[in-house]
Amino acid sequence: MTCKEAQSMVREYIAGELPPKELERFIEHVRGCGNCYEELETFFMIDRAVRYLDEETEHSFNLKTLLEKDLKEKEHALARKRRSKWAIICLAVLVIVLMCLLLLDAFGIFQISRLF
Ligand SMILES: [Zn+2]
Repeated sequence: MTCKEAQSMVREYIAGELPPKELERFIEHVRGCGNCYEELETFFMIDRAVRYLDEETEHSFNLKTLLEKDLKEKEHALARKRRSKWAIICLAVLVIVLMCLLLLDAFGIFQISRLF
């Protein structure tokens, strides 16, 4: 991803509108590119400051740590999504293996009862 592409996604990132694949590429770029990180940080702080003023929340907060928190939350969500995708793939492979064993058993090529 180029800096231009990343910078065009800043608004969508802040609004939480980036689809998972784009989000992953965006975070990867921002993590490795100081310029884009700074640009994101600036817009992120403006957005959070405006929200803060709108909401007039009681608790104080550090704007710089909020971006790190937001990036980490999104990275964790992406990792969770990846893990559940692998779990589904493993389950599918297991089901296919079981189906094959059942077919082999049905055609008398292999007896499942021998396994136990
Ligand atoms: Zn960049």
